[in-house]
Amino acid sequence: MSLPTAGARDASRLVRRHILDMEGYVPVRGLEELAQELGFPSDSLIKLDANENPYGCSPRVQLALASAQTYHIYPDTDMQQLREMLSSYVGVGAEHTILGAGSDELIDLLMRLFLEPADRVVICPPTFDMYRFSAQAHGGQVVSVLRREGYSVDSEAVLAVEDAKLIFIDSPNNPTGVLTSREDILRLLAADAVVVVDEAYYEFCGQTVAPWVPEYDNLIVLRTFSKWAGLGGLRVGYGIFPLGLVEHLWKVKTPYTVSAAAQIALRESLADLERLQDRVQAIIAERERLFQKLSSLGFLKPIPSQANFILCGTPQGQGLRIKEQLKQRGILVRYFDRPGLSDFLRISVGRPEHTDALIEALREIGAGYEQ
Ligand SMILES: *Cc1c(COP(=O)(O)O)cnc(C)c1O
Repeated sequence: MSLPTAGARDASRLVRRHILDMEGYVPVRGLEELAQELGFPSDSLIKLDANENPYGCSPRVQLALASAQTYHIYPDTDMQQLREMLSSYVGVGAEHTILGAGSDELIDLLMRLFLEPADRVVICPPTFDMYRFSAQAHGGQVVSVLRREGYSVDSEAVLAVEDAKLIFIDSPNNPTGVLTSREDILRLLAADAVVVVDEAYYEFCGQTVAPWVPEYDNLIVLRTFSKWAGLGGLRVGYGIFPLGLVEHLWKVKTPYTVSAAAQIALRESLADLERLQDRVQAIIAERERLFQKLSSLGFLKPIPSQANFILCGTPQGQGLRIKEQLKQRGILVRYFDRPGLSDFLRISVGRPEHTDALIEALREIGAGYEQ
């Protein structure tokens, strides 16, 4: 028997057409790899580029993970007990909630549930790029309705999009930190489409529409433990869904995606709410201090934020240079240069000492940009 000649077949021609020329999602780079490149020990880098929690996860999570004995058993997929615990935190019945490996999994699940080829998904840039990425990966057609001056959602323009199936609004918005008003969300709910309100940063602002879900059959709220509870690396997110969708979502969800470790982390975080909420308060206070400091530099234009990061305009054409110079000093921030967001820096709120180091570095870098 002879083997086929190498290269005689090209499996890539079998890839679905719409995937061939789609753009992937660009994640932040791994910490170890970056530290090595920069020549810093990874624990001395000041990581303000991915809205992670600078206080880490609850110490209860670390203790419980170290002593658990059941990692060889497939995790519970229904998670009834955890969903009951979560339900008292959220204030909406457990029957409305589904957990995922981060809310990213639930975004993907919604596309899987709803999209026929070329179905329309409305996003409001600047916004979280996962909506575009997931929609395109599932063959959807992304319709962008740019935010208005001041980054509020142009709800009339969104409602004017014909045949929209899904509308994604992150509130507070990533990367601007701007909230969408309850009035605007109410207005959008009149659409003949599903409105997904992504409240990944809810704990940093306190405004939610989760209690509305049982009353609107087209409202979905997504949340995550990645930011406020410091579980980004363990992947725990959840959605609050109208009952009419829940059974269909369960049908298409891959089982076992929320690992045994993630389930332990969720349980222990909910059991340590007071400590985690104190940390959220510290981050909110630090956000206000960071905002004042950034404004007082004189060359950056920070936007008031309701989340755990601050978006800053930069002196024209200087954003990338500032980001690189911070990086050389071991401080990581996110740089954006896209339509509606040209030459901006997004800086996550760290601990007070991170703010101090950042501001000192920016003073050095910025000397010379008087304006
Ligand atoms: C970080 C973020 C998420 C993703 O959270 P995971 O639960 O870690 O997948 C979702 N939406 C927005 C707007 C985010 O910024």
